[in-house]
Amino acid sequence: MAQNRQWLFNKRPKKDIEADTLILQDTNLPEPGDGEFLLRSIYVSMDATNRLWLGDWDLYMEPITPGQPMKGFTLGEVVKSRNPAFPVGALAAGLAPWAEYSVHDGIGFSVMPNIPGLKLAEAFGVLAIAGPTALVGLMEVGRAKKGDTVVVTAAAGAVGMLVGQIAKIHGCKAIGIAGGAEKCRWLTEEFGYDHAIDYKREDVVQRLRGLAPEGVDVHYENVGGELLDAGLSVMKNFGSVVICGLISTYNSAAGDRIPGPYMFRNLIMRRLRVEGFVILDYVDKYPQYQQQLAGWMLEGRLKGRMHVEPGIERAVDALKMLYTGANTGKLMVQFGREPQGS
Ligand code: NDP
Repeated sequence: MAQNRQWLFNKRPKKDIEADTLILQDTNLPEPGDGEFLLRSIYVSMDATNRLWLGDWDLYMEPITPGQPMKGFTLGEVVKSRNPAFPVGALAAGLAPWAEYSVHDGIGFSVMPNIPGLKLAEAFGVLAIAGPTALVGLMEVGRAKKGDTVVVTAAAGAVGMLVGQIAKIHGCKAIGIAGGAEKCRWLTEEFGYDHAIDYKREDVVQRLRGLAPEGVDVHYENVGGELLDAGLSVMKNFGSVVICGLISTYNSAAGDRIPGPYMFRNLIMRRLRVEGFVILDYVDKYPQYQQQLAGWMLEGRLKGRMHVEPGIERAVDALKMLYTGANTGKLMVQFGREPQGS
């Protein structure tokens, strides 16, 4: 049996991820050198941005090049260590190859605290990326305040489900947009959204006008395209538009002409403030955000819905789910078992 397996980035996809984009290969078990540790991967987060790393856009970070292992945000167990900051048995999170085992020097990694009362998958799924992104995007970039009407796209997804709940914690009215009746039901029944709009079946602009007759104060964008246009159409004067993600465009090449937004003129007509952000710029404040988010989770005010796919073999098929809406919660792949007792 192979000592280690990893996904290799083989060939750049033209649009959607293809059968030969990534290949699973057997490799040797790496040995940690001085100052390094060996990580056994447990959960690997599937993030919409992973597709961008395989593309040719000019990004916020270096893309991965063909011939290199695919990477993802990973929670693992330290199983060998020559780095005292990451002792054997510690749970560490950071950017790692999509591999069962990998060696790290600790840069960009943090030891994940054990939070009694939270399951490991839930703690990783909410606290690692989605939670800080939802909190920073809504409160710091969007500057939401009590009484605001907040609209969220991809509202039933990892980030979106949390944005709605954080908006409610702060006394806002939350309107979520998602694909399908089932996801819309979760929005109001599980995540506390006041209203849900099914963009696959309903006229989004018309519904938004009915639900927010005075206009929208904060629009939290995860999708782009027509949904961003719908949002721009119904903003209140001096409203905020948070550009968190544009997932509907991520399967495009750098040279593709992506249309819209057509309602760009409302930046003037409605005096809007539009701001994009990347959560990596906020890592210094992660302990503060994580404490806040974990507190709400333990109080039962913030819930995460997890979607865990089993086994390293599932990684590519799992990633593809994000771009079709097949994921039913914060998507991650379980590469290895949880340590006993966690
Ligand atoms: P999700 O769990 O929300 O999954 C993605 C969802 O997007 C799908 O389930 C689907 O939901 C929706 N979707 C996909 N394609 C389309 C489309 N063409 N039209 C409409 N909806 C679509 O993923 P995340 O929560 O991880 O990511 C959400 C967004 O947040 C992404 O754009 C991502 O890039 C961004 N993000 C940004 C960060 C930052 O630092 N700025 C950090 C983390 C995430 P449905 O079934 O409702 O269609």
